[in-house]
Amino acid sequence: MGEWVIDLRPLAEAGLVPYRPEPYLDVDLELRGPRFLDDLRAALYELFREDSSRLRDDETLRQACLIPASTAIPCIPLMPKAFVDFYSGIHHASNVGRMFRPDQPPLLPNYRWMPIGYNGRASTVVTSGVDVVRPMGQSKAADQAIPIFGPTRELDFELEMGFYLAKGSEIGERVTPEEAGDHVLGLVIVNDWSARDVQRWEYQPLGPFLAKSFATSISPWIVVPDALEPFRIEGMVQDPPPLDHLRRPARSHYSINLEVSIATSAMSTPQVICRSNTNNLYWSIAQQIAHQSSNGTALQAGDLYASGTISGESEDSFGSMLELSWRGERPIRLEETGETRTFLEDGDEVIMTAFSEADCYRVGFGEVRTKILPAG
Ligand code: MN
Repeated sequence: MGEWVIDLRPLAEAGLVPYRPEPYLDVDLELRGPRFLDDLRAALYELFREDSSRLRDDETLRQACLIPASTAIPCIPLMPKAFVDFYSGIHHASNVGRMFRPDQPPLLPNYRWMPIGYNGRASTVVTSGVDVVRPMGQSKAADQAIPIFGPTRELDFELEMGFYLAKGSEIGERVTPEEAGDHVLGLVIVNDWSARDVQRWEYQPLGPFLAKSFATSISPWIVVPDALEPFRIEGMVQDPPPLDHLRRPARSHYSINLEVSIATSAMSTPQVICRSNTNNLYWSIAQQIAHQSSNGTALQAGDLYASGTISGESEDSFGSMLELSWRGERPIRLEETGETRTFLEDGDEVIMTAFSEADCYRVGFGEVRTKILPAG
């Protein structure tokens, strides 16, 4: 809440929130059902209203439950059981197509017919403040006959939004786009770390593998759908119209502002290098869930899904170094020190933030802040 974190324990002891929360949300999910965060949020909303006297007039309790956000240490709210990464940022997909398949149409023929995705690695999902070690990997330079194994030389971030599932499904059951909203626990910022040189060498024919699985960083706060109701939007036109089982419900996208900054170890203040918005996503969360479930696979509460890199159309809205530096051809200049970057170097810090705002109402997602450590 603004600059503050609310500690629920003293409030639970005073009987002011419905229950004493467990340390990890998966236990709460199990015990209290898929909508428990919405109920909790509603209780807190009442408690912290300006015209609600209970907390306002209890100085001791107020001090006990309000902690300055700057002093709180983030922890992962829910260790995901599975992680899926989509590719729903259409400008990112087009940019990558232009770079890697210059003589073909930027989007592959399937792109506008289904949300493309792959199964990622859940065990290396970490939160803000956890350093990421530059991964080792296999890569092959175009002018070399054989690959080498060593630290990646093209370490990159991907600006994404993710969501956790609150509710699963049975094997054989198909969740429709209309039902999908009931399965969403809430949204987080995702930095889907990527080693581009490793990716280029390994990704055909089965897609990304080790180039992505060494780390994925998420923001520590799960923002529930209720909080995002005012920011629902129609989303971009889908042409051709999707098949019936993927038909998009009305206003199933969100407008969320996104920002990426980087700071090298020589800089005192991070520099913003990208401003984007989730309105650049072609496929909505409802369609992603429906597609995942369309073959009858079982969804699980606690699964984490990410959107795909959310680039805008303009060059200052690209959501990866790959695009910002256009494959290394146009290095990014950092004003404070005059340094340049094509990909990330050891000691660099990447900070992603997100918020939605309308009239007097603002919802912040906090940040995902990560420092790159040298390969070990
Ligand atoms: Mn990704």
